[in-house]
Amino acid sequence: MHNKTLAELSHALHQREYSSVELTRYFLERIERLDTQINSFISVTAEMALAQAQAADQRLQSGNASPLTGIPIAHKDIFCTEGVKTSCGSKMLDNFIAPYNATVVEKCHTAGLVMLGKTNMDEFAMGSSNETSFYGPVKNPWDTQAVPGGSSGGAVAAVAARLAPVATGTDTGGSIRQPAALCGITGLKPTYGLVSRYGMIAFASSLDQGGPIGDNAKDVALLLNVIAGFDERDSTSLNHPQEDYTAHLNDSIAGLKIGLPKEFFGEGLNAEVGKIVEAAIKELEQAGATLHEIELPHTHLSVPVYYIIAPAECSSNLSRYDGVRFGHRCENPQDLLDLYKRSRAQGFGAEVKRRIMIGTYALSAGYYDAYYLKAQQIRRLISNDFTDAFKQVDVILGPTSPTTAFKIGEKVNDPISMYLSDINTISVNLAGLPGLSIPAGFVNQRPVGLQLIGNYLNEARLLNVAHQYQQRTDWHRQNPPKFL
Ligand code: GLN
Repeated sequence: MHNKTLAELSHALHQREYSSVELTRYFLERIERLDTQINSFISVTAEMALAQAQAADQRLQSGNASPLTGIPIAHKDIFCTEGVKTSCGSKMLDNFIAPYNATVVEKCHTAGLVMLGKTNMDEFAMGSSNETSFYGPVKNPWDTQAVPGGSSGGAVAAVAARLAPVATGTDTGGSIRQPAALCGITGLKPTYGLVSRYGMIAFASSLDQGGPIGDNAKDVALLLNVIAGFDERDSTSLNHPQEDYTAHLNDSIAGLKIGLPKEFFGEGLNAEVGKIVEAAIKELEQAGATLHEIELPHTHLSVPVYYIIAPAECSSNLSRYDGVRFGHRCENPQDLLDLYKRSRAQGFGAEVKRRIMIGTYALSAGYYDAYYLKAQQIRRLISNDFTDAFKQVDVILGPTSPTTAFKIGEKVNDPISMYLSDINTISVNLAGLPGLSIPAGFVNQRPVGLQLIGNYLNEARLLNVAHQYQQRTDWHRQNPPKFL
């Protein structure tokens, strides 16, 4: 059952070939047996899952089920889940039981999806390797010595190892696409505002976006149908009419104009990864697409700009963890200042502290204009690069990550080299555009991801191109040998 697509699972559930309870038991058993190898879950909610599965079976029986009713899902532990620990990968929230559901979670519940548990992640979603989690690193199912990418490393590894058919993640600078690439699965960062941020623990509010993670483009489209949509509880939610993201999957891509930015193919790109991307481009050309060289001239500034804006916003968002209202509190505080200081010193890990310090500095009087304001101005130039490019082409394509998965421990003491793993993904968040990563091949048994970037609200187009590519290739069907 674990190798079936969502459409196949849905068909089987609707035909009553097996029940949602049976399907849920099956995945819970896989998690119990196999997750010790990769550490992809922080919490497994077996009892709750079986109760939800039972309710789903009733809906299926009474004929008022939706397409994904009864299908198990894993939520990144950044989404608040009522009555269930929501840790955000941090000691700070290790004791936090959320009193309400994030909109994304609520929408999945309403559709009848069954929550298997909460997935591991970099602390407060800060990282590209899942090594900053308080709950220990996640391992890449293709090579357990290697990182899965981050910060949605647990979500992506769980889907890659088929411990969950589908999952949610979040992407602030690449955290859905980069791990999807490194684990050989499909992950979408939607247009900023398409998926509600209500109940999604904030890292950098102008960049954070939730999105679907699955085995293939059609699965991702099916989950996007459930989680997208206007939410009055999120002030930056887009009031965009509901779309069916599966409607255009089968459209021909003949005549599609693909832009190849020279900045994504320059120095820093691993030569073997480059070859795989070239082969994928040829495949799309054979399907009728035309290729156009384009320029995104401010790409080299995206990482420095991001590492001003994201820490600035994080320093503000994380000021709420003061030991007073919720989260970790130090023992025997002497006074209020001691309570703040020790609670935060004990609750946050090194990377989170580093970001809070950078952000506080960048926002402080006297430096605000030189750093934060300047970064916002360059952000606009980065976004204008894309606007210009989309006057010439329909989608932009390149490698998701310049390398394949690196070894656990290899970059932990070198933050700059870690930050550079998102060099191709970060500009997409700064511009608020949709980006999709799909598997395109392997280098030494480690997956390579292809990134497709679209204009605002062009998710259906990206999914169409990805689906057409997946009709012609079978990279997305390969499973890591230890998790067949
Ligand atoms: N790796 C980037 C960072 O550390 C992006 C993380 C994310 O997208 N949440 O901030």
